[in-house]
Amino acid sequence: MPIFEFQCEECGEVFEELILGDDKDKVICKKCKSSKVKKLISQVAFKSGNKFTSSVGSACSTCKGGTCSSCH
Ligand SMILES: [Zn+2]
Repeated sequence: MPIFEFQCEECGEVFEELILGDDKDKVICKKCKSSKVKKLISQVAFKSGNKFTSSVGSACSTCKGGTCSSCH
């Protein structure tokens, strides 16, 4: 899911927004409705990235992705 984290430059509100297509240009602050928002490095993506990294760490040479039965 393309969920990004944004911070409002007006009031500092941080919120997550599901972005589909070009909607990222239409994101407004959920609190003050300002369009002055900046995209943050998503903590959602960061967390899933860590999870992916840890699953790769347990990967075996058979699948290299940590997804086959011999990985565990
Ligand atoms: Zn705001």
